[in-house]
Amino acid sequence: MTASARLLIVGPQGSGKGTQGVRIAEAFGIPVVSTGDIFRANIKGGTPLGAQVSEITARGDLVPDELTSEIVRDRLSQDDAANGFLLDGYPRNSVQVGHLDEFLTGRGEALDAVILLDVPRDESIERLRLRAEEQGRADDTTEAIAHRLDIYENETAPILGMYGVRGIVDKIDGVGSLDEITERVFAALAVRGLRVEN
Ligand code: ADP
Repeated sequence: MTASARLLIVGPQGSGKGTQGVRIAEAFGIPVVSTGDIFRANIKGGTPLGAQVSEITARGDLVPDELTSEIVRDRLSQDDAANGFLLDGYPRNSVQVGHLDEFLTGRGEALDAVILLDVPRDESIERLRLRAEEQGRADDTTEAIAHRLDIYENETAPILGMYGVRGIVDKIDGVGSLDEITERVFAALAVRGLRVEN
């Protein structure tokens, strides 16, 4: 049996949240719902949604909240998310927090934990620079990176206050080996009674 868990992973660009998110979701047997991945897949596949968001994402701007929230609601309504999910990259601002709250409350659900991967800005920028060399993502230009980090600090970091008052934020030191960081997350989740079954 897999454990049910409704999780959100938050961290600055380059914090490694994508990588950690996949590891955590796999261990719990829940799907990763990454808005960035959904947008990139649509851009690659040449869908109407892809056409709508390609310029916005390349600039490092946010896709409109209503559109993004609609996509997440659709995704979370699929059967594989019934017992849990790990959100990566959504919600990213206070409006999206409101949308997600409304949706989850309507289903009698709530987030169990918000994992904050804490990485210093210098370290994030260095990791992004390396990723740009390796992967060449359209939004890994110097300008788009700085813009995304600014949006993170101004719009995304404040949502931690909203979740903090609910007592569901686990701040995890995001500097270390991949395995060390995964273990830190598992340890924090276990304190909340969210345990991976081996
Ligand atoms: P990163 O965290 O490195 O910026 P993501 O893969 O999470 O990368 O997101 C890539 C881009 O997709 C964002 O810069 C933004 O344009 C768009 N995007 C992703 N998630 C959201 C969201 N929740 N709201 C609005 N736009 C989003």
